[in-house]
Parts: sequence; structure tokens; C-alpha cells
Amino acid sequence: YHAKLERDRISTYSPEYDVNTVERLQLLADLRSALDSQQLRVVYQPQVDLNSRRTVAVEALVRWDHPTRGTIAPDDFIPLAENSGLIFPVTHFVLDAALAQLARWREAGHQIRVAVNLSARHLSDVGLAQQIYEALARHQVPPSALVLEITETGILSDTVRADMVIRAVRGIGVEIAIDDYGTGNASLSYLKRLQIDELKVDRSFVSNIGSDHHDLIIVRSTIALALALDLRVVAEGIEDDATAEALAQLGGVIGQGYYLGSPASVDEISERLELERRSAPTARGAGR
Ligand code: C2E
Ligand code: MG
Ligand code: MG
Ligand code: MG
Repeated sequence: YHAKLERDRISTYSPEYDVNTVERLQLLADLRSALDSQQLRVVYQPQVDLNSRRTVAVEALVRWDHPTRGTIAPDDFIPLAENSGLIFPVTHFVLDAALAQLARWREAGHQIRVAVNLSARHLSDVGLAQQIYEALARHQVPPSALVLEITETGILSDTVRADMVIRAVRGIGVEIAIDDYGTGNASLSYLKRLQIDELKVDRSFVSNIGSDHHDLIIVRSTIALALALDLRVVAEGIEDDATAEALAQLGGVIGQGYYLGSPASVDEISERLELERRSAPTARGAGR
């Protein structure tokens, strides 16, 4: 019995555990300075109307160019930021960068929206709506051009507070999207009662619809219900033409995924928008 206790105790204090802790603390310290030394940057992934194949919005996704580790993906530092409270300045940075850039794109005549990810931690931030209002005013962007993405699981973690925050930001005219829909257990009618504008169907369902008949049925009926509830629908994780085509047949669905465009720099997105404008016969008559 004592030998077992000893083993457990030892395994709890294993060298890897310490290394991980030290590494995490180091990364946290690094993230703190990253905010001040401009190591964070935003890339944008197109959201494309599957019927017209035009870019209607872009999602802002954060990247961290670490001085020695190279580029770190958000999944590897957002959880750390959430646990430490650094998520608040990180979100502020992304929101500000995305709105500044959106103002430039709109100035150039591209009437797109931008989507920014919120962490569940923002759902208990009473100052959020005010902060967003000020950012919109600072960049002179209409509120309806901003979409805030909240994950389904984030909303389910505290529905009362989520409801309050959603009401507050929708009150200033900003739209709300449910991200990664299907990974939690919320029914669509329930989410609709929270007054959301857009549903993003998680890529774990979307990417298999070509091969998995079950997933195809789930995605199809989810989209049909969402559209019937008057929600905008974005299908995430479209990786091939067959998937894009299958979803296009439903009509009125927006797609996002590597096949339609990977997350890209401002210059690459600007080029894409210019190309689309030149190739679209209807855009010329629009007087822009
Ligand atoms: P998300 O909001 O669901 O964003 C979509 C993620 O899927 C992005 O990963 C994107 O690069 C990836 N993706 C897009 N198309 C495809 C595809 O066809 N196949 C596959 N396999 N993946 C695809 P990324 O940029 O690494 O971001 C991961 C997650 O990190 C995001 O998931 C979001 O939850 C979070 N995140 C990113 N930026 C921010 C941010 O500024 N703030 C917060 N709070 N979270 C962020
Ligand atoms: Mg998202
Ligand atoms: Mg998502
Ligand atoms: Mg995701």
C-alpha cells in the first residue's frame, strides 16, 4: 500500500510535470511581453457565398510570432490566455486590428463583414459592449459589419450571463454567431431564443459529408432548420469541391475552409477581393 502511495506521489511530481509547469510559466511570461512587442498578428479567412462564390466576410484569427519558437497557433496559447486573464488584452488587440482593417477594405469599396472570436470569459465582462461600441466608433465601422463568434460550449457554460452579454452587444447592432455548433448539446431552438444571428456548423460534421452519410443527414437537417429559423449559416471546414457543391445545393449557405481559402495576410485578402470585383459583372453596375 505504501509502495503504491509512493508511486503515485512520485508520478505526480514527475520531471515531465515540472518541465511542463516551467514551460507554461515561461510561455505565459512570453505572452505578456508579446502583447507589448507586437508579436501578435491577425490573419483573415474568407467566408464565401457558396452559390455566387463571392467573399461576404472574413474571420479574424490570431497568430503569435514567437521570437524563438516560431509561429504559435491559437489553440496552443488561447487557453493559457484564458486562464491568466490575458485573453482580455488579446481580444482587444484582435478586435482593434480587425476593425481598423475592415475600415480600409470598406473604404476601398468591399462591403464585407469581419468576424472576431470571443472567449467564454468575455461572457462575464460587463464592460464588453461598451468596449466594442468604442472600437466601432474609433474606426467608423457600422456595427452590422461586425460579427462576434462565441462557441456553443462557451454559451452553455453560463447561459444566464451569455444571454445578458448577447443582449448588450446586439443592442448596439453587432451580430452574434454560434461557433463550432454541434460540439455541445444545445438545441437550435434554444440557441435561437438567445437571439443569435448566425450559426457556424462545426467542421467535424462538415468535412465528412462526402463519405459519411450520417454526417450528411445531420448537416443537411441542421442547416435546413437554421435557415427556417432565419439564421445565417456558415459551414466550417470545407476541404474539397464535392463538399462545397453538396452544400451549395441547399441554397443560401456560406462556406469556410481550406478549399475556399486558407487564413491569409491582409495583402492576400485584398488581392482576392480585387480579383472578385473585376470578375463580377454585377459589381460594375453597383456604382462603386
Ligand atoms: P475557430 O474559431 O473555429 O476557427 C476556425 C479554425 O479552423 C481556424 O484555426 C482555421 O484555420 C481552421 N480551419 C479553417 N478551415 C479549415 C479546414 O478546411 N480544415 C481544417 N482542418 N481546419 C480549418 P486556427 O486559426 O488555428 O484557430 C483555432 C481556434 O482558436 C479558433 O477556432 C478559435 O476558437 C480560436 N481562436 C483563433 N483566433 C482567436 C482569437 O483572436 N480570439 C479567441 N478567443 N480565440 C481565437
Ligand atoms: Mg471562430
Ligand atoms: Mg469554429
Ligand atoms: Mg473551432
